[in-house]
Amino acid sequence: MINPKDWLEFGQKFHGHKCPAMPNGLRVAAAAMNALGVERTGDSALLALVDLGEDHCATCFADGVQVITGCTMGKGNIKKTHKGKWAVTLIDKKTKRAVRVTPKAEAMMATKETPFFKEYREKGVPPTQVPDEVVEPLVTNVMNAPEEAIMTISEVFDYDYQEPPHSFASFVCDDCGEMVVEKYGRIVGDKKVCIDCASKY
Ligand SMILES: [Zn+2]
Ligand SMILES: [Zn+2]
Repeated sequence: MINPKDWLEFGQKFHGHKCPAMPNGLRVAAAAMNALGVERTGDSALLALVDLGEDHCATCFADGVQVITGCTMGKGNIKKTHKGKWAVTLIDKKTKRAVRVTPKAEAMMATKETPFFKEYREKGVPPTQVPDEVVEPLVTNVMNAPEEAIMTISEVFDYDYQEPPHSFASFVCDDCGEMVVEKYGRIVGDKKVCIDCASKY
C-alpha cells in the first residue's frame, strides 16, 4: 500500500508550488496503485494514461501522478490522451490489468469556487505568489478527504498491453554531427542525416 501523504513534501518540491491539483494527482494515482496492488518502481512496469489536454487548469494533476507512480515523461510511461479530463488509467503491464480512477466533478467544482481560484489564479496571480493561508486549506482538504468523497475507482479490468520494441540503435548525422536515434534517420542521396538536416535539402 502506498500512502500519498509520504509523497506530499517531495511532490511539492518537484512540482514547484503548492496547489490542490498536484495533491489530487497523488491521491488519485495512489488509489489506482492500491487497487491494482502494485508498488512504485523505478523501471517501466506501470503505464499511466492521463486524460488531460493542453493549456487548461489543473494540469498540475499529472505531476502528482508522476511523483507517486514513478511513471515519468523521461521514461515515457506516462501519456496524455488529450481529452481535457482528469481521469488516470493505470496499467500494470506484466499482469495486463488496469484501473481507471476519476476525480469527482463535485469536489473539483467546489475547489474551483474557492478564493485560490477566484481571487488569485483566475486573476492571473502565479501559483507561487498565492499566500500560504489561501492554498494550504485546499491541500489539507484533498490530502485528508475520504477516497469516496473525491474520486471514483473503477473495477480492475483486463488491458491488452503490447510493449513496443525499445531501440538502442543510433547514428551520427552526416551533416550536423548530432547523435540521432536510428529510426528517425533520413537518407538524402548518399548521406544519412537527421530530420532537421533532411529538411534543408
Ligand atoms: Zn500546481
Ligand atoms: Zn543533422
